[in-house]
Amino acid sequence: MTGQGRTQGKSCWLGFPGTPSSWEEMLPAWSAACHQPPHDISVLFHPKAMPTAACWFCLASPEVEKHLVVSIGTHCYLALAKGGLSPDHVLILPIGHYQSMVELASEVVEEVNQYKAVLQKFFRARDKRCVVYERNYRSQHLQLQVVPIPQQSCSTEDIKEAFIVQAQEQQIELLEIPEHSALKQIVQPGTPYFYVELDNGEKLFHRIGKNFPLQFGREVLASEAILGMPGRADWRRCQTEREEEAAAAQDFRRAFEPFDFAQVD
Ligand SMILES: [Zn+2]
Repeated sequence: MTGQGRTQGKSCWLGFPGTPSSWEEMLPAWSAACHQPPHDISVLFHPKAMPTAACWFCLASPEVEKHLVVSIGTHCYLALAKGGLSPDHVLILPIGHYQSMVELASEVVEEVNQYKAVLQKFFRARDKRCVVYERNYRSQHLQLQVVPIPQQSCSTEDIKEAFIVQAQEQQIELLEIPEHSALKQIVQPGTPYFYVELDNGEKLFHRIGKNFPLQFGREVLASEAILGMPGRADWRRCQTEREEEAAAAQDFRRAFEPFDFAQVD
């Protein structure tokens, strides 16, 4: 399958009509000269964006779990979370190697925001609200977690309350930060932090000192107050077979296709 000459229509996925069933179908289309290439492949090899060791999330890395990838933009891509809280728990990741939101180049931030907005629309159409969080601590490549929560489970206020209460219980100082302020204005690159963004734009931020519970964001969202599935707080206990993961990614791609700006010519 080369994808050559089949470039028309809104359903074009990086040069293919329809939705690809696998990464192997996506990649040749991506690099093929079958139409105006929408992607600047040089971003993959950005000299300032090279990992120090094998990285699970650099898109060019052989370590990346390609069957989980569901959309590829110019600077960012989307992948289903491995062992996600739900089958539609998704990650926004930079294609090149960046450790955190505060280190991103402005054009990458712009596309992160574009993905955030479109995911919010996508989930809203499914009666779900998005919670977005990042843990820049013991992590080498930025993973922005996007967790959809069914609207009937709880309100945005309930989610905020759950984060605040659980932070207090664990003596984590979670501060509200102005909605329109960029993290860059609050924290220097290289400083560990955790931040969560609610679907009304409110943001809570914690500057990480010595220790931080690695599963904090998941613990809060999995708790009885929110998703009511505390057993899923640890992703390692939620892993499924590769075939099942690939099928979930395929389902997500199909459903997300009408919202995916990366597919529009
Ligand atoms: Zn990386």
